[in-house]
Amino acid sequence: MQERGSITVHTENIFPIIKRWLYSDKDIFLRELISNAADAISKLKMVGFSGDFQSDGKEYEIQVTLDKEKRTLTIADNGIGMTGEEVKKYINQVAFSSAEEFLQKYQGDDVKQQIIGHFGLGFYSSFMVSEKVTIDTLSYKPDSTAVHWSCDGTTSFELSDSERTERGTAVTLYIDSENEEYLEDFKIRELIRNYCDFLPVPILFNGEAANRQKPLWTQSPNGLKEEDYKEFYGYLYPMNEEPLFWVHLNTDYPFTLQGILYFPRLKPDFDPTKSSIRLFCNQVFVSNNCEEIIPQFLTPLQGAIDSPDIPLNVSRSFLQADRTVRRISDYISKKVGDRLKELHNEEYEKYVQCWKDINVFIKFGVMNSDKFYEQIKDVLIFQVAGTETYTTLKDYLERKSEKKVYYTSDQAAQGAYLDLFKAQGLEVLVLDTYIDTHFVGFLERQNSDVQFARIDSDLDENLLSTDKAAEIVDPRTNKTRSESLADLFKAKLGLPNLNVRTEALKGEGQPAMLLLPEALRRLKEMTALMQQKQMDFLDQHTLVINTTNPLIENLQRMDETGADDALVGLICQHVYDLALISQKNFDAQAMSQFVQRSNDVLTRLSQKAV
Ligand code: ADP
Repeated sequence: MQERGSITVHTENIFPIIKRWLYSDKDIFLRELISNAADAISKLKMVGFSGDFQSDGKEYEIQVTLDKEKRTLTIADNGIGMTGEEVKKYINQVAFSSAEEFLQKYQGDDVKQQIIGHFGLGFYSSFMVSEKVTIDTLSYKPDSTAVHWSCDGTTSFELSDSERTERGTAVTLYIDSENEEYLEDFKIRELIRNYCDFLPVPILFNGEAANRQKPLWTQSPNGLKEEDYKEFYGYLYPMNEEPLFWVHLNTDYPFTLQGILYFPRLKPDFDPTKSSIRLFCNQVFVSNNCEEIIPQFLTPLQGAIDSPDIPLNVSRSFLQADRTVRRISDYISKKVGDRLKELHNEEYEKYVQCWKDINVFIKFGVMNSDKFYEQIKDVLIFQVAGTETYTTLKDYLERKSEKKVYYTSDQAAQGAYLDLFKAQGLEVLVLDTYIDTHFVGFLERQNSDVQFARIDSDLDENLLSTDKAAEIVDPRTNKTRSESLADLFKAKLGLPNLNVRTEALKGEGQPAMLLLPEALRRLKEMTALMQQKQMDFLDQHTLVINTTNPLIENLQRMDETGADDALVGLICQHVYDLALISQKNFDAQAMSQFVQRSNDVLTRLSQKAV
């Protein structure tokens, strides 16, 4: 047999276009050829099942061989093979017209973007790296003759008899001078590992096993142990710490999808937009990026998903609008929510431990998806300040008479307030991550009757002592003790407009503390977050003077006797500074003044003592 012909194609010289357009992602040619080989093997298996082919017992395999001297790379399979007619049909017509169609479809500027990592050109992608490609193939059909096909990158091909004696197909690439890298062993081995590691057919490279072949996700979860999942994770992400837990996905209806998603130990500053989930299609690696397929808020998850139902050869926007993709996205998010609930209900201690690592991510998730919020709102937990126990919002509110949630954003800095709350048995929740300002607002919108207040924004009724509130009026000035205390501080601080509140706090506690109105502080925090800078939260604060504190009592007496007016002034300043210092860091100047005044006050006091 000897035949020459011209490939029916309207775009003359399609190859330069293929080469130019796919330039940035040439590697995929090997994936395409190996996928074809694997397909040829599964097709033959199917024929075997239907009884039309009797296997000779030989193992199915794909052999990749590099011959540096001849400058060839051969991908050979012992699959279904092709007859001469089939070569004409599938290679000359089908493959070529799909290549042409593909190019026409993507005659746009962003074409590279869309092609990268996605199946597309199939067999013809081999011309991205070759000056000539040959096929030697022998069909499984009885009495077939082997066929040799050859094409040098123009639109004409040659068809002749082949010397091939074994069933199957060998595709040989004559690597061109611009693509020498594909003549390197390590490059080919790396590509096989990257793209075809989980292909369920043995791939031999120069005679040696080159793929792993055991995609954990296709195995039944029942037969898998914790170690198997961890080992697989370590394999996918060798540099990472152990994952916290995982979800094994497996569904056949209304779409086929398998996969394992891991919750990694997230750094507090993780980037919620960076996806590293690997996408596979029938165990062939497609892309490192599943951004369009999994819900955005799940992007920090890791692992692998495999679905033949995800359209690959399409643009991003098409993918996002695709119904199956949306269903898949919903499915994944539901499964993740189920897993969280299961962990909460069945392994509470582990859940609590993991919470520290995943809470930011979960909060981000519920704020991004109402469905997800509805699904897992009962397992959102909050640490109770000063303890290692956690509570749900519902339980917290059930223990209280009013629908008010007190929280701290920094247990150390707000320690004085915390002590006050603790002493009165008031539970305070810890909300100390960078998205908690948003999260608190979100929870208030979801639960319109619940109000959140940071412990330094308001004083609970329970913190105030009513006994001591009975006010004595000074007959000389006609002012209550509280009024004269407030005036004293305003005068000595030189801040006539300062908001001063005098309260008899239960327990002696601190002489004074600052209150920052909740709403204003939140607004400023949001602005600061958006502008990424430190903001001074301190204007519009209220200075609360604790009238039950001994220092304040002494101070007032000193003021009444008028004995040491200078010392009274210094102490007022100092009390104010002590309240301020728990809210903000002093700059160099304020700090040096503070230290100087401390020395000054101590000197004066020691003089009185000697
Ligand atoms: P696709 O694989 O997407 O159909 P390709 O261009 O890769 O497109 O291949 C076109 C057709 O050529 C395949 O559908 C198949 O029928 C045939 N083919 C390609 N490679 C092989 C092979 N190794 N063995 C048997 N048939 C093959």
